[in-house]
Amino acid sequence: MPELPEVETIVADLRPHLAGRTIVSCDLLFPTIVRHPEPEVFIDSVAGMRITALRRRGKYILIDLENDLVLVVHLGMTGQLRLLKPDVPLSSHTHAVFALDNGLQLRYRDPRRFGRLLLGTEVSLVAAKKMPRLGPEPIDPEFAAEELYRRLRKRRTALKAFLLDQAAVAGVGNIYADESLHRARLRPDRLAGSLSRKSARRLHESLRDSLLVAIANRGSSVDTYRDAWGEIGGQQEKLLVYGRAGEPCFTCGRPLALIRIAGRSTVFCRRCQR
Ligand SMILES: [Zn+2]
Repeated sequence: MPELPEVETIVADLRPHLAGRTIVSCDLLFPTIVRHPEPEVFIDSVAGMRITALRRRGKYILIDLENDLVLVVHLGMTGQLRLLKPDVPLSSHTHAVFALDNGLQLRYRDPRRFGRLLLGTEVSLVAAKKMPRLGPEPIDPEFAAEELYRRLRKRRTALKAFLLDQAAVAGVGNIYADESLHRARLRPDRLAGSLSRKSARRLHESLRDSLLVAIANRGSSVDTYRDAWGEIGGQQEKLLVYGRAGEPCFTCGRPLALIRIAGRSTVFCRRCQR
């Protein structure tokens, strides 16, 4: 599933091509990929709209339109947002095509269809529970270690589950939860509330580092992730623990352990992480 670094890569790549453009029309090949409002209303509402900006919030792509409207794209497990010339044949599982005033097409494709498109104001989408209330952005310079400590302290849940909770911190999924806990030398099954201020500071730093390094490497293509041009990322070859269960820890050489936390497979080193 695309996480913060993958979504950030797509948004940064698309921004110069989309900001200022107008959506001429929208064609829905699989209408129920639009979860709000009704597909017909969605099509009518986006047609003729100018794109004013492109942003990321957590794992959500926010395409700002006029009148405070936001076209929201969540990639789910296998979603891909691509910018293509209209003569490129439609690939299978293409569910939505937005024609732009520069002749290009923004296409949404999603084989497993866990992704979704939404349209509304940010406030109305959150109020209608179409979008969750998201926690702070872990790479935001304003997000201080003390704030992470304050959030950890009240929680009686495993650290890994805390990191996966989008209301606790936004944008972290299975890959970067495991990576940042390994970098911070913290066990994923430790209680969030048990961390000292010093450990919380270490987690804060490792979370930032894991995400920023992955953004610099254009994300991890561990499964189907592709950027806006259809290319794979470069971080998957540099992951420390994710996907490496049973393989030797890069630090101590001991085989990495695999456990399940919050229903998700979790890889860590029993020796290096405490
Ligand atoms: Zn180790």
